[in-house]
Amino acid sequence: MSSETGSHSFDRFQSSVGRFDISGKTLLIPDMAPIGARLLAACFRAFGVDAVLMKTYEGLALGKEYTSGKECFPCQVTLGDILHHLKKEQERLGSDFSTKKYVYFMPEADGPCRFGMYNKMQRLILDRFPQFREVPIVSLSTGDAYGAGGLLPPHQASIFRKLSYVAVIIADVLDRIVWRVRPYERRAGMTDNHMEEAVQMLASMIESTGATLDFNLLHQKVEEIALQASSFIDRRKPRRPRIGIVGEIYLRSHPDSNQNIIRCLEAFGGEVVDASLGEWVNFVTFERIKKTRRRWKLAWRRKDHAQLRLILRQLLDLEIERGYQFWRQSQVYRRAMRHLDIQPDHTIGSIERRLQRDHLFTFDIGTEAALSIGGALAYVHEGFDGIVNVFPFTCMPSTICAAVLKPLLHREGIPYLDAPYDGTTQPNREVALRTFMYQAKQHLESRKAEENGRATLWRVKH
Ligand code: SF4
Repeated sequence: MSSETGSHSFDRFQSSVGRFDISGKTLLIPDMAPIGARLLAACFRAFGVDAVLMKTYEGLALGKEYTSGKECFPCQVTLGDILHHLKKEQERLGSDFSTKKYVYFMPEADGPCRFGMYNKMQRLILDRFPQFREVPIVSLSTGDAYGAGGLLPPHQASIFRKLSYVAVIIADVLDRIVWRVRPYERRAGMTDNHMEEAVQMLASMIESTGATLDFNLLHQKVEEIALQASSFIDRRKPRRPRIGIVGEIYLRSHPDSNQNIIRCLEAFGGEVVDASLGEWVNFVTFERIKKTRRRWKLAWRRKDHAQLRLILRQLLDLEIERGYQFWRQSQVYRRAMRHLDIQPDHTIGSIERRLQRDHLFTFDIGTEAALSIGGALAYVHEGFDGIVNVFPFTCMPSTICAAVLKPLLHREGIPYLDAPYDGTTQPNREVALRTFMYQAKQHLESRKAEENGRATLWRVKH
């Protein structure tokens, strides 16, 4: 493949994309979910890595300039972030700028999706800039559940894995606190200000004590944050229709890319819950268990005893990992829920059971579509009044999700909206959101009327 610097060797995908020792380097992290990304950077800093969260979306024009338009939108956004950041660093440091200092962080997935190709594609583009060729792209993969082996020394990698999982769950819970409180706050802005301070505080706590894996102080802080946030609610304000967001993880979590859809829905009268980040991590573990079970069955048929012993050990490790995640996730949610009725998270097993029961889709197909379809059904079951599917324009799993959910929810009378994004502003976006919120309010009204009718009937009968 030709480039501005001559021919491109595919060896670069091995030599400059993968796992490298990041000690002594500046790790450049793309911003995705505002709270989650900040806490993840703090986890790296807890191990002495100079992790920096790059400014996001300011380089979108660059991201679009160096792509053809057929790529997934998150690939363009993150490409723009890294190019913009490196160019700014070059301007700031002048002759002191050295690419040897930086490592760019771009995880991947080993599923059928194009996410596994972002880092290779971005390697090709970075290589077109002679001054950026030396910046390696460091990658964590779903293949080993985003283990940090190869980046950090082995004894630190397993601690990092546990710490970053807890940080992700804390980020989910903080987001849920904001979404539960902000629509009802007594004074505009008080929830956001509170959370801004809280995130800074938690990030510095993670940085200073995270590597000890003593989570007591973090749990206590989460509880205090929830308690204080609960006092912001004006109890005279009636409960709004609840809107559940599903879809592609980057788009639904990245406010710039989704044009702040959560705040827009709140402005038009909704209370919103977005699918969690923890859901994806738990899904990755769940999928690994399923794949390992399949390997076990094959080995059983072949009567391969050596393989059976090996796979059994792997299965045991994975089940321990799943149990650990479940335990840690429940701990953090429980502490917040002592003071505030935030939306709890569903388990991946419950989503799979829901899909199997309705014969709608199967986890065997893979990708996020199963999570989005199952997650939407879970919202409906929990009494939400509308579902929004947020995704990059042309996203393959989200398009499948839209094809299944739209007729299904229409039949059930649940308001549903597809919200695809590609960086352009659709002229009818506000009208679509307002109309959807109007339908969700109607749904809430009829649901309440039905509940009141049932309660009256019950009183008459008893
Ligand atoms: S989930 Fe969608 S946006 Fe993400 S890589 Fe797959 S097709 Fe692209």
